[in-house]
Amino acid sequence: MALLAPGSTIGILGGGQLGRMLGVAAAQLGFKVHSYAPERESVAAQVAAHHVQAAWDDEPRLAAFAAACDAVTIEFENVPVDTVRFLSGHVAVRPGAQALEIAQDRLVEKRFVAGHGGRPAPFAAVPDRAALDSALVEIGAPAILKTLRMGYDGKGQARLIAAADADSAWDAIDRHAAILEGFVTFAHEFSVILVRGIDGETRFWDSSVNVHKNGILATSSLPPPPIIRDQQDEARALMARIADDLDYVGVLTGEFFATDDGPVFNEMAPRVHNSGHWTIEGAVTSQFENHIRAVAGLPLGSTATTALPVTMRNLIGADIATVPALLADGACHVHHYGKTEVRAGRKLGHATWVGTAPA
Ligand code: AMP
Repeated sequence: MALLAPGSTIGILGGGQLGRMLGVAAAQLGFKVHSYAPERESVAAQVAAHHVQAAWDDEPRLAAFAAACDAVTIEFENVPVDTVRFLSGHVAVRPGAQALEIAQDRLVEKRFVAGHGGRPAPFAAVPDRAALDSALVEIGAPAILKTLRMGYDGKGQARLIAAADADSAWDAIDRHAAILEGFVTFAHEFSVILVRGIDGETRFWDSSVNVHKNGILATSSLPPPPIIRDQQDEARALMARIADDLDYVGVLTGEFFATDDGPVFNEMAPRVHNSGHWTIEGAVTSQFENHIRAVAGLPLGSTATTALPVTMRNLIGADIATVPALLADGACHVHHYGKTEVRAGRKLGHATWVGTAPA
């Protein structure tokens, strides 16, 4: 495939902060960005040369979008697979529909990963309320009930301390088809973030330790505890097998639990990831820049960490009010996503410290 020359246009499906940061990286490399999203407020559109607000199934608008783009990528893994398949008939879409299809369904994803030698938590399908009872017999409690599709940042999840919680958990996930997962006792959480180029070259960023609060990522930090460094290679090998099998192009993320029995796979995201935001200032080449390089067919940049320690802290909901204080801390890199509505649990920005600990 031809390399994208400077001045080419990259289409981004989805309108969130990941698209915004991809857009900034694309501009740095001389590309124009067109964004496409159904929502009225798109913070990716704020940095794009052109924005299309249209439904995911609006084929005339999709065809016109494709005609204006030299390559298309995604910033949101729940773009309908049919949308990506339709666009693929008009323009190169990287990564392709298969990676999305797998990542959009927790059951498909866990079976796929297990088929590649990965080890997810014990799981059972829960298509209906009756199946939850048999799943509880099989998996035991405590356990986590997760909707098969569309869950993120702890949404669409309910914890069961005991089998008696089945009714309330089923109601809490709005009675959607789900899976029941055994509760994993872990020392730490970490992610493997890789980028795979059009020629199959694969590079990894260092794995940060990720701390979640209420199911939402709160911080990613380096260096990670020794258990993560010990388990990183096995987790990397799994993600590389998956990327090779999918002939994946771009950034791919796997989230893992570091346990006494080795790395347990949690989930994958076929995109740049919140736990990789530290790479903007903390790595030679950020996840956003390398994703754009991969999508454009350009050589990949070094993923080496530039200085330790690194801390990335998410600004969620009311945290955004700390921006003036963070700006006054001369060592802190502040990212404001430009969202106008402040809501509890909403990711509104992040702050990164490289080579120094947060004040
Ligand atoms: P997820 O949306 O699947 O990434 O889950 C959000 C967070 O919930 C994870 O990052 C963990 O902190 C926690 N979690 C999810 N699944 C499990 C599990 N099977 N055992 C223990 N904790 C979990």
